[in-house]
Amino acid sequence: MEKKEKYIFKSEVKQLLHLMIHSLYSNKEIFLRELISNASDAIDKLRFKAISSPELYQNNTNFGINISIDKKDNTLTISDNGIGMNRQEIIENLGTIAKSGTKEFIDLIEKKDHQLIGQFGVGFYSSFIVSSKVIVRSRSATTHKEIGVQWESSGNGEYTVKEIIKKETGTEIVLFLKSEEKEFLDTWKIRNIVNKYSDHISVPVKIFNYDEKKKIGTWDQINKAQALWTLKKNNITEKEYKEFYKHITHDFNDPLIWSHNHVEGNNEYTSLLYIPEKANWDIWNRENKHGLKLYVKRVYIMDNTEHFLPNYLRFVRGLIDSNNLPLNVSREILQDNRIAHNLRQALTKRILQMLESLAKNDDKKYKIFWNQFGLVLKEGPAEDTVNKITISNLLRFSSIKTNSPEQTLSLNDYVKNMIPEQEKIYYITSDSYLSANSSPHLEFFRKKGIDVLLLSDRIDEWMMNYLTEFQEKKFQSISKIDKSLNKLIKEDKNKENCSEISSEIFIKKVKEILKDQVKDVHFTHRLIDTPAVVLTDVNEMTTQMAKLFSAAGQKVPQIKYIFEINPNHILVKKIMSIKNDILLYDWIQLLLEQALLIEKGNLDNPNQFINRINKLLINQEV
Ligand code: ADP
Ligand code: MG
Repeated sequence: MEKKEKYIFKSEVKQLLHLMIHSLYSNKEIFLRELISNASDAIDKLRFKAISSPELYQNNTNFGINISIDKKDNTLTISDNGIGMNRQEIIENLGTIAKSGTKEFIDLIEKKDHQLIGQFGVGFYSSFIVSSKVIVRSRSATTHKEIGVQWESSGNGEYTVKEIIKKETGTEIVLFLKSEEKEFLDTWKIRNIVNKYSDHISVPVKIFNYDEKKKIGTWDQINKAQALWTLKKNNITEKEYKEFYKHITHDFNDPLIWSHNHVEGNNEYTSLLYIPEKANWDIWNRENKHGLKLYVKRVYIMDNTEHFLPNYLRFVRGLIDSNNLPLNVSREILQDNRIAHNLRQALTKRILQMLESLAKNDDKKYKIFWNQFGLVLKEGPAEDTVNKITISNLLRFSSIKTNSPEQTLSLNDYVKNMIPEQEKIYYITSDSYLSANSSPHLEFFRKKGIDVLLLSDRIDEWMMNYLTEFQEKKFQSISKIDKSLNKLIKEDKNKENCSEISSEIFIKKVKEILKDQVKDVHFTHRLIDTPAVVLTDVNEMTTQMAKLFSAAGQKVPQIKYIFEINPNHILVKKIMSIKNDILLYDWIQLLLEQALLIEKGNLDNPNQFINRINKLLINQEV
């Protein structure tokens, strides 16, 4: 037999172990959930591989997980007869953190966000929370000799690996409990934890029970060992649904809502879909796969099957068990498989229905949902034209009237509150809620009592390209020219107190001064406290869109704005009376610079702007 070989953990594992042991201590019992979950995964993997290579069973189809306690040695042992690991696999799987995102994980742990630990695939290392030493003995199901590998570590930077004799395939994990963790040597304690977390995994979990009096030991099954989703809805309690969610997602939080359905007919399947309460840490990482667990006729096939959900519903967790897909299905096959395609459509509808009824029946929970996943759902109108109406109904916004950055207004409510003369749904996009809410474009709407949606998420501008109509009302950006507003404006026009002739001359002068700096110039009656604004033309890119493009490093053509001046503003009235052309030039340029600053939040040449203000302040002729 070969000697032990010593290895050093990758540095991130060291850091992780240290942080984890300290920060997860209050939740230490989860180590058992993690180890049972790994054992159950290992059995699932073996069953799946054996579909094409039955020899892997090695005459063993009686699958299960066994737990035994040794009070003399202070050890707790968890063993399974799953797929097992060979030497190379054990080094890869237990010596590194195979998954990406370690850095994000460490950041989260440092921030004490323990909720997310299991999502990172660090499950196995949680054994060190309660153990001073861990020994893993494993034999791969592909090995037909009685040879296995032993991995051993005290969790302080090193581990050793050596070859051993192992009669059975599968994995055995021996935890040498720290002296202060003896409570885990109590059979009832272990039973309780298994009941709590692992009742509905599909293989039996047994514990060895030794009767001191009778001097005999028995293996007692402590879980139901019936895959939860195969049971009838009526026979499953709310608590069981919640624990099952935690088992498949490793989430510490309860799910927000779920939907469990058996569907019969040509396409027979069972789905169990959960909407979490908290977003997964990598929801914005597009490289990571999101999706459902796939089973075919109760056999586990794969995790994170993205084919059954559109991207904008990637926050949904859960599983699908199909009776019609072939057992040898692969990601490639799913890509253009008709059954998979139909399933995706059906599940999409189902999830949207779940959300619709949540929005209707439970304001509080819908708010939680929207705050966590609203940004993801906003990808919907672009991605899914078929369900655009349903998605539109689910969107929530800030507006002048809600007067809060929290997005709570539905389009339905917006339309209900439209004033009689109003034809369109008005919105404004900006960098932040604050800048949207203080835009001078809103002045007119505020005065008229017309509500305006205040959009300030990065995705909003893009979403609005796809959201063109709701209940036959068109969406209209108020920073764009909009002729239909004229109807609403007309009645105010009388108040204007300069004659038509002089205004015509003034506008002509302004046009001469600004030449091709702007696309057009006119008076507006949409402003109250602001002397001038710029608007974009109907077909022109909006300022916000141009900002997004340039932030993404793309070249954007210079926007030519339409310059609108408020003839009722006292400053404009004064400017209109200026006779000196040089002075007038500076004042008009200043008005434009002000308007551009408000619209864009910056100027191409701030220095010129400051110089101009200073010049005008010194020369106080106006
Ligand atoms: P995860 O389960 O999320 O992948 P873990 O840290 O829990 O992360 O486990 C790391 C890896 O170690 C697993 O992906 C698996 O390949 C391997 N492993 C752990 N436990 C077992 C086991 N009982 N049988 C076979 N492989 C295992
Ligand atoms: Mg695991």
